Amino acid sequence: MPSYVNPDKCDGCRALDRTACQYICPNDLMVLNKDIQKAYNRDPAMCWECYNCVKICPTQAIQIRGYADFVPLGAQVTPLRSTDSIMWTVKFRNGNLKRFKFPIRTTPEGTAAPDGGFQSGDDLNSAALFTEPASLGLPAVFSLDQKGDARA
Ligand code: SF4
Ligand code: SF4
Repeated sequence: MPSYVNPDKCDGCRALDRTACQYICPNDLMVLNKDIQKAYNRDPAMCWECYNCVKICPTQAIQIRGYADFVPLGAQVTPLRSTDSIMWTVKFRNGNLKRFKFPIRTTPEGTAAPDGGFQSGDDLNSAALFTEPASLGLPAVFSLDQKGDARA
């Protein structure tokens, strides 16, 4: 179910040019009403519930009612990110609260190597993906030509 903004908590990101929720939404759905400095989801039907806006909002003003496949229907789910973990708070319809904390990384922030230490190629015409074939442990990545023969 789509995201919605609690206007009591939203401070409009303190009148920055672009709010955090506007910056992060992959569907460009979040809009700031500049008259009252409150954001809103302009087209809930287009929201794919990715939780990006929920996670980035500095005041925890954005909520999503979770689907019944991961919380009971009607429960509110709020993630709160830190540098090494994420805390999910579930508020059930009867008011009960439960919190679940999970690690989100195995390396200190800013130290992840995008290529994982594997040599990466820069041939955009190659069938190989980034870090292949090294990360596959193969000498080359093979693909089929139009006759169905394998070629490197
Ligand atoms: S990120 Fe949060 S506080 Fe900032 S405008 Fe959006 S809803 Fe409001
Ligand atoms: S949940 Fe995702 S798609 Fe929906 S408004 Fe937030 S950022 Fe956009």
